[in-house]
Amino acid sequence: MRVVFIGPPGAGKGTQAARIVDRLQIPHISTGDMFRAAVKAGTPLGKEADGYMKSGKLVPDSLTIAMLRERIAEPDAKRGFLLDGFPRTVPQADALDAALRADDMKIDVVLLVEVPDELIVARIVGRRSDPDTGRIYHLTFDPPPPELAGRLVHRKDDTEEACRTRLGAYHSQTAPLVPYYESHGVLRRVDGVGEPADVTTRIMGALGL
Ligand code: AMP
Repeated sequence: MRVVFIGPPGAGKGTQAARIVDRLQIPHISTGDMFRAAVKAGTPLGKEADGYMKSGKLVPDSLTIAMLRERIAEPDAKRGFLLDGFPRTVPQADALDAALRADDMKIDVVLLVEVPDELIVARIVGRRSDPDTGRIYHLTFDPPPPELAGRLVHRKDDTEEACRTRLGAYHSQTAPLVPYYESHGVLRRVDGVGEPADVTTRIMGALGL
């Protein structure tokens, strides 16, 4: 199965994606995670992406598309994948379609995880992740165990200012993918508000699992 997750920053895509790939046994491909790994490793791609990411802007399509195409060509992606954070623009969606079509494949489902803007900033600013397990916590809504406090990471772009830029980028550049995928007949909407476990149940239902 080839699945795409779309939704504003802080919609819970990363948390939910981890649960879904566990169930479906397909790779979780997050372009945000790939860029963060490249920044950490200090690669030329990471150096180029870093400035865009810190300020909450999208990395240019040319770099992002090249990185994603390489990733989905890897053997583990042949039997399916879950894309989290890609595509984020219509040119990215067109490039993805073209790459898959060349191999006689297509996206099966696009899940739109809907969360209203007024909930997003509070969700993002309190977000912390565990670099060892990848588990995402929230200081108020999903507090981490105290013994982990020392190792948790606060993303550089999880500030209020960068969050507002990311939300703006979502509405202007990513939201047009909703009618795009609706017209392809693959879009399914899921309410992303509420307990993470309830959202998982809704997503499983939308995927027919
Ligand atoms: P995320 O972890 O998905 O919130 O992504 C973090 C940041 O990585 C974004 O704010 C962008 O700067 C960059 N990024 C991730 N995915 C993409 C994409 N598909 N297109 C452009 N930039 C991206």
